[in-house]
Amino acid sequence: MKLHYQILIIGGGNAGLSAASQLLHKNRNLDIAIIEPSEKHYYQPAWTLVGAGVYDINNTERKEADFIPRGAEWIKDAVATFQPEQNQVTCASGTAYSYDVLLVAPGIQLDWQKIKGFKETLGKNNVTSNYAFDVAPYTWELIKNFEGGTAVFTNPSTPVKCGGAPHKIMYLACDYWRKKGILDKCDVHYISGAGVIFGVKEYAATLAGIVSRNRIKTHFASNTVEIDGGKQVVYYESKDAEGNVVRNDMKFDMCHAVPPQSAPDFVKNSPLADANNPLGYVEVDKNTMQHSRFPNIFACGDCTNAPCSKTGAAIRKQVPVVVKNILSMLAGKRLSAQYDGYSACPIPTEYGKLMLAEFDYSNTPKMTFPFNQAIPRWTMWILKRYILPWLYWNRILTGRA
Ligand SMILES: Cc1cc2nc3c(=O)[nH]c(=O)nc-3n(C[C@H](O)[C@H](O)[C@H](O)COP(=O)(O)OP(=O)(O)OC[C@H]3O[C@@H](n4cnc5c(N)ncnc54)[C@H](O)[C@@H]3O)c2cc1C
Repeated sequence: MKLHYQILIIGGGNAGLSAASQLLHKNRNLDIAIIEPSEKHYYQPAWTLVGAGVYDINNTERKEADFIPRGAEWIKDAVATFQPEQNQVTCASGTAYSYDVLLVAPGIQLDWQKIKGFKETLGKNNVTSNYAFDVAPYTWELIKNFEGGTAVFTNPSTPVKCGGAPHKIMYLACDYWRKKGILDKCDVHYISGAGVIFGVKEYAATLAGIVSRNRIKTHFASNTVEIDGGKQVVYYESKDAEGNVVRNDMKFDMCHAVPPQSAPDFVKNSPLADANNPLGYVEVDKNTMQHSRFPNIFACGDCTNAPCSKTGAAIRKQVPVVVKNILSMLAGKRLSAQYDGYSACPIPTEYGKLMLAEFDYSNTPKMTFPFNQAIPRWTMWILKRYILPWLYWNRILTGRA
């Protein structure tokens, strides 16, 4: 049984598979293994469209085996602990593997339990979340069958994967209800732990218009702490003028909620975690993606403390940097590739229209197209609905884009 690899990758998700594929394109002779426990791979960005009734959930799930690149070995296990001083990880099965270079890419953890009652009521009592494969179709059931009343959409105070996803679905729901002729009977609330609708002002201005057009009532700096499914009440905390924490409640007829998120526990409890980050992300140099204390360890994707938005779009720009820097390290060269914090958030503002928000670490718009991307467009909807899923399965995971 082989127990040492030149490059060991933890996680065969978006980041891990893209990186493995790109590494092998650069050099077929690299000795790479991917440690990944799941038999299935998910295209999570489409779960918003599933919740909006325009995408089949079954098309977001594929077999992991079909995407492990030729030349890489798949170790079907889960990493449990890290021994960076020994260049080793130990898996849940008890087997330990050593490496020359480690790439950490196990994604982010959904902390459902941090909202009391959420997990117990998820998928029933009109409580849903596009953040779970099994439940995203229920979002569409609720939106489609809604006849008016109070609709609550929540966003936690932690960073989440795809910061736009908690509110994207709200704009689509409002548009659906407008077309159904019931929006006047809908009292829509957005309860968000963030202080603003979106961190980049050029795009936030567009969203402010959408919020106002739909008469959405926003509650910023408000942290959802409990969902009582039986009573259909959401509880959230905010601060009063004196800075005291106040507990509020709101009765709902439907609730789309998003769990707080953090690094997976096995990362959080490891020597790789950033001790200054309560959410326990892997501590990296935000430009080279190299670990700050263990030079032969790199990380990319949702698990790092790089202060970028956690998206697949960010990964598409991180992976070439990580690949180049890993190859430099193996060749004994200086690390020269730098990631600038690029991320993108495709925000549908109504059915058939989408604003493609692109930006970097400084929250400066980084528009790809030669037009003002702060204006929602049909072409960008087509990009999200048809082109990006195809690119993901055929080009991104295979290391060709
Ligand atoms: C509702 C929703 C909407 C989104 N919308 C968009 C969007 O529009 N645009 C966009 O760019 N991004 C979007 N995203 C975000 C995007 O899906 C993620 O940023 C991306 O999948 C992160 O890739 P990753 O490789 O870091 O993690 P993942 O793709 O989640 O993969 C992590 C992998 O690590 C594995 N793993 C976990 N624990 C272990 C362990 N102990 N040992 C080994 N392996 C382990 C998991 O099984 C998994 O396969 C969205 C996400 C959601 C949920």
